[in-house]
Amino acid sequence: MRLRAEREAVVAHARRMAADGLAVGTSGNLSTRAGDLVAITPTGVPYDVLTAEDVVVVDLDGTPVEGRLRPSSEVPMHTAVYRGTDAGAVVHTHPVHATALSTLLDELPPIHYMVVLLGGPVRVAPYAPYGTEELARLGVEGLAGRSAVLLANHGATTYGDDLAQAYERGVLLEWLCRLYAQARALGEPRLLDAEQLERARVAFGGYGQGGGSAGGGSAGGGSANAGGAWGSR
Ligand SMILES: [Zn+2]
Repeated sequence: MRLRAEREAVVAHARRMAADGLAVGTSGNLSTRAGDLVAITPTGVPYDVLTAEDVVVVDLDGTPVEGRLRPSSEVPMHTAVYRGTDAGAVVHTHPVHATALSTLLDELPPIHYMVVLLGGPVRVAPYAPYGTEELARLGVEGLAGRSAVLLANHGATTYGDDLAQAYERGVLLEWLCRLYAQARALGEPRLLDAEQLERARVAFGGYGQGGGSAGGGSAGGGSANAGGAWGSR
């Protein structure tokens, strides 16, 4: 079986999604890249019974290479993120707070300094039907300089160097959205300004927008060090 370790990582993270509030039923999908191949969740299989054999291997154009099931309907979005960024893994979810705010905002305001771990205030990409190349294109555009994007009236997508980091960023994004929603329910939240965000960025190791390679795709990605930092602060 090709990409066995990657397939097992997909299963391990998929099984956490319901408990972490990132997905309901079979919604959401995860993938991780190894060279020119991508291991991605199949469509329609409940995560609690998902096995490594069920995970599908596709190439960077989304063509199935190995697997007995059909890959996720969001293959175009996953492969577009791999082609357009330096992502090593992509996590797409439908968490309730992120999805609620995706119907209200054009950008998640900087309510907490940890948003710098996602590259800065997270954009909301315009609505497009699920599974389409249009949604994939709009999502990648929304990711410019960021490692997270909200998809209007749909959900959220994050990426990272590996599945652990992409998943952790998905959890962080949902937490930020829940925080903003709860603060807004009580009043008008005070937001961080550009200087405060920049100081947080420097404190986290100076990575972030403008700190990546000239390719433009890595600006939203942080180092492994920074990616693991948010849980401990
Ligand atoms: Zn979706």
